[in-house]
Amino acid sequence: MSTTVEPEGTLYKGSCHCGFAKYTVRLDFTKPPPSLHGANVTKCNCSICHKSGTLLTDPGDDGSSTFTLLTPPEKDLTMYTFNTGNIKWYFCPKCSIKLYCRVDGVFDGVHVRAFRVNVLTLDEKEDGSPLEELKDLKIKYWDFKEGDMPRAPLDAPGKGGMW
Ligand SMILES: [Zn+2]
Repeated sequence: MSTTVEPEGTLYKGSCHCGFAKYTVRLDFTKPPPSLHGANVTKCNCSICHKSGTLLTDPGDDGSSTFTLLTPPEKDLTMYTFNTGNIKWYFCPKCSIKLYCRVDGVFDGVHVRAFRVNVLTLDEKEDGSPLEELKDLKIKYWDFKEGDMPRAPLDAPGKGGMW
């Protein structure tokens, strides 16, 4: 007898602004991943998140089983690397919208491997129903302007952060 594990969560469709990049991602907003400390999405005041205004969520894996880039192939997106190459942001080369990032590197002695999706690029559920749940998502705020690598996000924006 074989056992099939049904994936949890909801399949969402997302895209950049011009439609060049399209993806699906499986997210379960009813069960925030441990990495987000009770939040569904996080915002941070680091040099890039603050300027680009992204809201990040964690599908709970490295993207390999939850995220599918439908078009184009990843090599045809533009990648922006910073933080000594530990963080790679992928965005549309035509309309500049940031879609997702991969983190793989050592921060304050801790090896962090992570995958994050920009929630602001979600369009609808796979069945076409609207994203009414987004307005109820719990947001927390990483503070990267003060001292060491933060261990947990704050309930309100940190120094230099907004909303
Ligand atoms: Zn685009």
